[in-house]
Amino acid sequence: MSKNWQAELAEGFATVHELFGYLGLAAAFSPEAAQRFPFRVPRAYALRMRPGDPHDPLLRQVLPIEEELASHHGFVSDPVGDRHALKAPGLLHKYRGRALLITTGACAIHCRYCFRREFPYAESQFTPQREKKALDYLAVDTELSEIILSGGDPLLLSDARLAHLIGQLAAIPHLRRLRIHTRVPLVLPSRMEGRLLEILSGHRLQTVVVIHANHPRELGGDVGGALAGMRDAGMTLLNQAVLLRQVNDSVQTLCDLSECLFDHGVLPYYLHLLDRVRGTAHFEVSEAEALELHEALRRRLPGYLVPRLVREIEGQPYKQAVS
Ligand SMILES: *Cc1c(COP(=O)(O)O)cnc(C)c1O
Ligand code: SF4
Repeated sequence: MSKNWQAELAEGFATVHELFGYLGLAAAFSPEAAQRFPFRVPRAYALRMRPGDPHDPLLRQVLPIEEELASHHGFVSDPVGDRHALKAPGLLHKYRGRALLITTGACAIHCRYCFRREFPYAESQFTPQREKKALDYLAVDTELSEIILSGGDPLLLSDARLAHLIGQLAAIPHLRRLRIHTRVPLVLPSRMEGRLLEILSGHRLQTVVVIHANHPRELGGDVGGALAGMRDAGMTLLNQAVLLRQVNDSVQTLCDLSECLFDHGVLPYYLHLLDRVRGTAHFEVSEAEALELHEALRRRLPGYLVPRLVREIEGQPYKQAVS
C-alpha cells in the first residue's frame, strides 16, 4: 500500500538546503525571509520543478528571497481587510450570500505571495467552542446559501474533523453549496483518497472545489488522477490563479494554464491581481500589464477559458473586475 498523506506531508522539504540538494541547485535565498514565513514544500510538488533551474516558476513560488525583506509603500499586513470582516472566530463574512470559514492555519505548501501570510491564525484557531459560534452565526443568517472552507488549507484537517464539520454545515437548511478553497489536490495529490472524496461529496450540499494553480506544470504528475477522482465524485472544479511576476506573466503560460485546466475538467474562474501584502512586491504585475495580458487571452481562447481578471478592494461588495 502507498504511504499515507500525513507521512508524505511530514517528509516534505522543510529547508531550502534540502530542496536545493534535491534539485541540484546552488542559488541565492534568504534565511531571514524563511524565518519570517517558514519554508515548506511537499515532495510531490518539488517533483514537478525543473532540476538545476534557479528561475523555475514553481520554485519561485516557494523560495524565500532577499526581496521579501524590503518594505514598499502600500504593501501592508492585512491588505484586504480580513480582520474587520471577522464576524465570529474564524468566520469571514464580506459578501452577500456567502461566508468563509478559516478552518486551520496550516498549509501543505508555503507560497511566498500568500495574502494570508500575516493572518493571526492563532487567534482564530478553530476549537470546538469557536466552531459552535461560527455555526450559530451561519444558522441565523438565512440569506447565506454558500459556505466556503478556506484556511490555511481545509483539506489538511483530519477526515474525522472534516466529516463532522461538513455534517454540521449540511444540517443548516438554507445552505445549498459547500465550496472548498485548496491547493492540496495540486501539492499533495495523495490526500485525495477515496475516504476524503466520500466525505466531500456524500451530503446534500453541492460541492465546488476551487483549486489554486498558477502555472500549467503544477497540473502534472499524480495531479490528474486526483482531479479525475474529484470529478467522478461529482464535484464542480474551478481554478483561481494569482498573476505573478516571473511565474505566469506571459500570454503563452496563461493560455497553457487554461488549456491544461480544461484537459482536467477544471474551469478557470479568477485571475487575481496580487493582494499587496508585505514582502510580496517583487511578485506584482502592474494593472496596465495585467490588462494587456487579459486582452491577449481573450483574443486566443474561447470565452469559457478566460478567467475573470479581478482585484479585491477592501469594503467593496464583490471582487472587483479590472478593466
Ligand atoms: C473571495 C472571498 C469570497 C468569495 O468570493 P466569490 O466572488 O464568490 O468567489 C467569499 N468570502 C470572502 C471573505 C472572500 O475573501
Ligand atoms: S493559504 Fe494557499 S496561497 Fe497561502 S500559503 Fe496556504 S496554500 Fe499557499
